[in-house]
Amino acid sequence: MAKLKTTVNKSKCISSGDCIETAPTVFAFDADEKSEVVNQDGADAGTILAAARSCPVRAITVNDEDTGEQLYPAPKK
Ligand code: SF4
Repeated sequence: MAKLKTTVNKSKCISSGDCIETAPTVFAFDADEKSEVVNQDGADAGTILAAARSCPVRAITVNDEDTGEQLYPAPKK
């Protein structure tokens, strides 16, 4: 699996904590209780994608770092 580039849109994040529960080595709350990526390589790709899918407001975007392709959410065709 390709190397991933994961980002959190903090203005969307509602601090539910789902991503942190799924991948606590990748995501953590910042001082404002918004999730942020603390380690891009903190978990395997499947776990990171599961964390992104767990977000109730789709605040997490996962890209293939090499190709730039957006893996989640699936880009609209
Ligand atoms: S799952 Fe989404 S809303 Fe919940 S803490 Fe993570 S980024 Fe924020």
